[in-house]
Amino acid sequence: MKTVIVGAGVSGLTLAERILASGTEANADITVIETADAPGGLARTFSVDGYDFDIGPHRFHTANEEVDSYLREILADNYVKISRKSSVHMAGRYRNWPLTLASVLGLPLLVLWRSFIDLFNKPKIPEILSFADFIRSRYGNNLYDFFFSGYTKKFTGTDAENLHVDWAQAGVNRAVIDKRVKADSLLSLLKGMLLPKPVETKFYYPSTGGIQTFCNLQRQQIEEAGGVFRFNTNATGIVEENGAVTGVELDSGEIIPAERVYWTAPVTILYPESGLTFINTLLANISLKSEISVNNYQWCYFGQDNLIFSRLTIPRNFRADCVPHGRDSVVAEITCSSDSEIWKNPESVKDRLVHDLKSVGAVRGDDIQFIDWQKIPDTYPVYSLDYKQRLSSIKPPDGLYLTGRCGSFWYNNMDHSIAQALSIARGEDYRKDFWNER
Ligand SMILES: Cc1cc2nc3c(=O)[nH]c(=O)nc-3n(C[C@H](O)[C@H](O)[C@H](O)COP(=O)(O)OP(=O)(O)OC[C@H]3O[C@@H](n4cnc5c(N)ncnc54)[C@H](O)[C@@H]3O)c2cc1C
Repeated sequence: MKTVIVGAGVSGLTLAERILASGTEANADITVIETADAPGGLARTFSVDGYDFDIGPHRFHTANEEVDSYLREILADNYVKISRKSSVHMAGRYRNWPLTLASVLGLPLLVLWRSFIDLFNKPKIPEILSFADFIRSRYGNNLYDFFFSGYTKKFTGTDAENLHVDWAQAGVNRAVIDKRVKADSLLSLLKGMLLPKPVETKFYYPSTGGIQTFCNLQRQQIEEAGGVFRFNTNATGIVEENGAVTGVELDSGEIIPAERVYWTAPVTILYPESGLTFINTLLANISLKSEISVNNYQWCYFGQDNLIFSRLTIPRNFRADCVPHGRDSVVAEITCSSDSEIWKNPESVKDRLVHDLKSVGAVRGDDIQFIDWQKIPDTYPVYSLDYKQRLSSIKPPDGLYLTGRCGSFWYNNMDHSIAQALSIARGEDYRKDFWNER
């Protein structure tokens, strides 16, 4: 069977590796088409002048044993285990995330008092439809107004009232990461602060290079097993006959015949009429001449709408040798749409970016060596209130599997993309909702 996989991100690579590993002749003919010049997709690493910059904070953490053992099988000895140090910048200060008692005590008294009142006076919302409904019902109006509303608008460009409640899975659960840490309501947040359980969240990270090392190792195994890669190759559509897929079309006009296509590129390339949309991320990879001590977190969220970035990542806190000795670096994430001025002309926001970084102490200003801008399209699916209807209007022909973060329009993390690929490779239902497994 001739199989084409569109996209060499974690999903496409895991599929190719697993299908080839099954060792049957019917599964031996696999071509992976990738628009970029390297594997990795959203889990790519940009290496510039001795600095490794991932696309924001990328770490492997999973409660799924099958995924865990797959990760360790691919990484073999090439990983380190790191304790998480994440942060949130609120009311002018860096605070531990998930919140601790010490970190909230410095919040304005009015915010604390109102949150306390909200504990006994939660808004009654008959049907939880939007992200705003979800946050208000769990954390109260005060925390919604103080942090979530502004952060969500800045991050997604959409009001929390207009986002489907599913965004909460992404916005809150993903930020907490470790399901042993309970932060799913105001009360559990409070309990977690007053009676903290000693939960140390550890994650895997490659012992050399950045997160892309994992994908490079997968690529090596795929090539050794006879899989073929075509990089710098842009798929524009599929060809079908009598309701079944027969090939993949490239922008050169070439058609690659296929009886089975796993499509992990954005689903909107195939189905623009679905009206589904993604947000893009502009990355500013910043190298610094010396270490900045305030940057002692791995990543930090910034909800303030006067700051251009929504999150900063410090690569040396993943592994010290992600930066040259004695140096430092910061990755700033700026989410935006393709028609925004920021996306079209990143240099136009350079002065504002540096100003904002200085205002939170993340750079001094005169210590910046270079800023490497990277435009990463389609980083987050936008869960509009009607996204489920839009998604269900898509009817793929036989032999076409829409999968991965952008292909299935699920807010996958790498572990979810891997779980999805492992189950597809075993021939199970690929449309399963992987979120509920967390
Ligand atoms: C800022 C950020 C931080 C994240 N942090 C974490 C984290 O800490 N932990 C975690 O587990 N996950 C994290 N994730 C999520 C993780 O990156 C993704 O879930 C995972 O990489 C998705 O892999 P994928 O293969 O499903 O999709 P993708 O990586 O999107 O792969 C799709 C591939 O298709 C290619 N492609 C697109 N269009 C075409 C075309 N027309 N023709 C050919 N190829 C095409 C793309 O270049 C890409 O390589 C993060 C994501 C972001 C954006």
